[in-house]
Amino acid sequence: MLNKKFVEPVERTLNSEFKFRCHKGISCFNQCCKMTDLLLTPYDILRLKNRLGISSAEFLDKYTTLHIDEVSSLPYVMLTMVGEEYKCPFVTSDGCSVYDDRPAICRYYPVGRGVMVTESFRGRENKIFYFFVKEPGCLGYSEPTEWTIETWRIDQGADIYDEMNKEWQDIQLRRDTPGFPKLSEKQQALIYMVSYDIDKFRRFVFESRFLDIFELEDENVDKLKTDEIALMQFGFRYLKHFLMLEKTLQLKEGFRKS
Ligand code: SF4
Ligand code: SF4
Repeated sequence: MLNKKFVEPVERTLNSEFKFRCHKGISCFNQCCKMTDLLLTPYDILRLKNRLGISSAEFLDKYTTLHIDEVSSLPYVMLTMVGEEYKCPFVTSDGCSVYDDRPAICRYYPVGRGVMVTESFRGRENKIFYFFVKEPGCLGYSEPTEWTIETWRIDQGADIYDEMNKEWQDIQLRRDTPGFPKLSEKQQALIYMVSYDIDKFRRFVFESRFLDIFELEDENVDKLKTDEIALMQFGFRYLKHFLMLEKTLQLKEGFRKS
């Protein structure tokens, strides 16, 4: 899906126009679902594990590979490609078998999305930019359907994924600057659990001393029990606290430093 070799080195905006159509009748059908690096976000994993009806641990074990980022030392996960052709495990002769729950990177394709940190008099900002991926074998660009990047991302449902992953991406960007001490394996394991293994994180919140330590309103606690997306977003808040990026949670009396 995202082969860096074919990234067009031009920064695009939401208003950038292009022509594209991908459909089953096109002769390159499925060609983009192999030989590629596919980074998964927390929300991608949540959608995919629910789609497959398995736990987050099973999903991670069966379909992903763990990596550690050299600069931030944060853990990240890639979808594990399979077989000699290094194919996505979800591609079939009929197309994507998880289409309605496909990851954000697949939704954006042939557009790519990047974020960089800028510093100005307004302070620190995350600047989002876009680019086109032009793989020689992708014939979709020869089709006449017109888009802007904005209409494309909405049509593909990528806008929802961006919103869901916003806080998580902010954590990545803030850690991705030299100067932070390297994370220990124990810290990386906790971040991995909170970011990607939502079922284990739920047990961590409700079956450990977590709720004895942190101040949370009762209505929030009830929501976290039943609403997976709320739990995921709470996990991002907890990570900001854990990584000391922001004071997002209050400790209960007795756990506060005097
Ligand atoms: S998840 Fe679907 S769209 Fe994405 S690479 Fe796999 S088969 Fe292709
Ligand atoms: S048109 Fe491009 S995106 Fe669509 S199947 Fe062909 S290679 Fe993939």
